[in-house]
Amino acid sequence: MDASTAGDSGPIVVAGAGYAGLHVALRLTVKLRNHPQVELTLVDRHDYHQVLTELPRVAGGTRAADAVRIPIQDMLATRVRFVQNQINGFDLAGRRLLTGGGPIGWGRLVLALGSRPNDFAIPGLAQRALSLYSASDAERVWAAVGKALDDAAAAADPEWQRRLATVVVGGGGATGVELAGELAEILPKVASRHGLAPDRPAVLLVEAGPTILAGSSPQLIDKATRTLSDLRVQVRTNARIAAATEEGFRLTDGQLVEGGVFVWAGGVKAPELVAGSGLPAGHNGRVKVDRYLRALDHPQIYAAGDLASVTDPRTGHVLPPLAQVALEEGETVARNLDAELNGKPLEAFTFHDKGFVVSVGTRRGVADIAGITTGGRLAHLLKDAIEWEYRQSVQHLRGWDPVPG
Ligand SMILES: Cc1cc2nc3c(=O)[nH]c(=O)nc-3n(C[C@H](O)[C@H](O)[C@H](O)COP(=O)(O)OP(=O)(O)OC[C@H]3O[C@@H](n4cnc5c(N)ncnc54)[C@H](O)[C@@H]3O)c2cc1C
Repeated sequence: MDASTAGDSGPIVVAGAGYAGLHVALRLTVKLRNHPQVELTLVDRHDYHQVLTELPRVAGGTRAADAVRIPIQDMLATRVRFVQNQINGFDLAGRRLLTGGGPIGWGRLVLALGSRPNDFAIPGLAQRALSLYSASDAERVWAAVGKALDDAAAAADPEWQRRLATVVVGGGGATGVELAGELAEILPKVASRHGLAPDRPAVLLVEAGPTILAGSSPQLIDKATRTLSDLRVQVRTNARIAAATEEGFRLTDGQLVEGGVFVWAGGVKAPELVAGSGLPAGHNGRVKVDRYLRALDHPQIYAAGDLASVTDPRTGHVLPPLAQVALEEGETVARNLDAELNGKPLEAFTFHDKGFVVSVGTRRGVADIAGITTGGRLAHLLKDAIEWEYRQSVQHLRGWDPVPG
């Protein structure tokens, strides 16, 4: 049945105030003007929304952690009830979200709980490597780098000093490239503050596959590789980590990658509470959805963002965990909830790819937009513009709905 005739089917609860969930709440607020009886609740463990795309800057010390935490209450209209609580599970049969503050009943649920780092069960990785998945994580990375540089300055043995002053980033996707570039640009500038020569800190990027930024155009990969090399990032491809040990990352070929700080940016998987919840799990534990973004066999539950396993019908591939995808899915979910309230047909989700932009260091970047690859300063400016536009949109969506009807 493509058309829904649910009408007012009870409270709408959005679980997660990240890119997808926040956008569902913001877009729905205006649409609910004609349905004052419908309760809209947004639940998150934090009272702030995190601009995760800016974390590499926090991890590189160029942005304060608080600058990437936007207070949720500043963005929501009073129409939306915000509940700050940890979500611990779902009672699917009873249609209740189980939170630290007690159950919250739903008529329609939107699951938008994001993802968590995937350590691919590599022994020692979760214990020995830092991750970059929250503003606090990013602060920890920057603090660990600072301490490693101090320790390196105090080391008498040059070999030991070199090792301590090396940051090893695992995973050559966009997050790994952005972090490696940011640190490689910043560390020579801050080295003297720690009593080290500018050329002493080093950054190593370790990637299991044959290229960094896998899946991107060869031109983009080439430009990014050259910029990283210019920044003196040592990129090691075809280097699969077998274990993280006290000494460093042990590769499958037996080589040891030594360093003073290890960060893992090698991929994500669905949040733990989705596993075993009874929801249909797809690739990396993400929730399988139909073309309207409803969980399979659970038409009252929508899923959006990293947590949703959405196949692009044009390519047959599952869409990547990206903010851009999460925002578009959030918009479709908001429209479909509105359609249900108005007894209108649901809209199938279509992804409109706006392009791919990655910063490489503090001044340069690479971008693939409409089949054209750009690099250098322009690509970095594009990244800045996207982040600025995102912040503007969340501040202004409060009372604005660009999609009529
Ligand atoms: C370092 C980094 C850089 C990135 N850079 C880019 C980029 O440049 N471009 C791009 O397109 N994408 C980028 N991404 C990916 C992008 O950030 C994600 O795809 C996006 O955040 C997904 O949105 P989401 O709403 O699914 O999840 P999130 O934004 O992660 O939101 C999930 C929300 O759920 C809440 N939550 C989770 N579990 C619970 C619980 N149990 N109880 C209560 N609340 C809970 C969290 O607090 C959070 O607010 C980057 C990601 C990272 C980590």
